[in-house]
Amino acid sequence: MAISMSVKLLVRQRADFLCEYCHSSEEISAARFEIDHIQPRSRGGSDSVDNLALACQRCNAHHYNFIQGKDPETLNNVDLFHPRQQVWNQHFIWSQDGCKVSGVTEIGRATVQRLDLNDEVRGDGEIMRSRLAWVKAGWHPPVSDLRQLI
Ligand SMILES: [Zn+2]
Repeated sequence: MAISMSVKLLVRQRADFLCEYCHSSEEISAARFEIDHIQPRSRGGSDSVDNLALACQRCNAHHYNFIQGKDPETLNNVDLFHPRQQVWNQHFIWSQDGCKVSGVTEIGRATVQRLDLNDEVRGDGEIMRSRLAWVKAGWHPPVSDLRQLI
């Protein structure tokens, strides 16, 4: 069943128009973000708002139908970050220059790698160049991510 426009708007507003994985801003992106199923539909995930997250095209594509990733430090397979059940700031942190996101937990590190949040797997660094421009413009990282530094 298609997700209604009202539910899509709810998901966007709830996410404060940020990708709930990489925290890119929909407002400064060329393409509208997508409605991601945290538990993929192909694995029985529902269209319930509790299973939906706002995701940029990159994260949604990398998320695909994965629910787990491997932490590169411990080599444990762990569940990916769950935006409805977990708090972003407890699993991820920005580099000093605001361009690179790092995981600070097994879940965070596995998610950084599985969703290739820094274009390290693909290797072209495209998102890092975008973030650098956003930092220069004062649009990134989101203010909500900097609270812990103030
Ligand atoms: Zn994203």
